[in-house]
Amino acid sequence: MTTHATTDTTTTPPASGAPVPLDVYEELTRLEAARVQQLRALDDTALDAVGVAYRDSILRILEEIRTSRRRLMAGLHGVCTGCGGEVTAERLELRPWATSCTDCARRERS
Ligand SMILES: [Zn+2]
Repeated sequence: MTTHATTDTTTTPPASGAPVPLDVYEELTRLEAARVQQLRALDDTALDAVGVAYRDSILRILEEIRTSRRRLMAGLHGVCTGCGGEVTAERLELRPWATSCTDCARRERS
């Protein structure tokens, strides 16, 4: 039986030619869908201050996830937007959509 055994199932070439980790792409897609669902579940007309803060935090993360996916497609996943250094695997484990290293994220917050 002849199959195309050389077909690479783990990566697809993005515009830049760098490999895109499909598992990360799928994880981000899943996280995005989950956030969208959370937003849909909110009744905008009946939000109190806590509800508004909750919605805003979902929207912020959603935006971060989308930015992260664009960077992933550009071959920039795991590269810090602040210093160009590496976003550690540990950080990406906790926050797969992180686009900055711990140091830069701390600087942004302060
Ligand atoms: Zn950095």
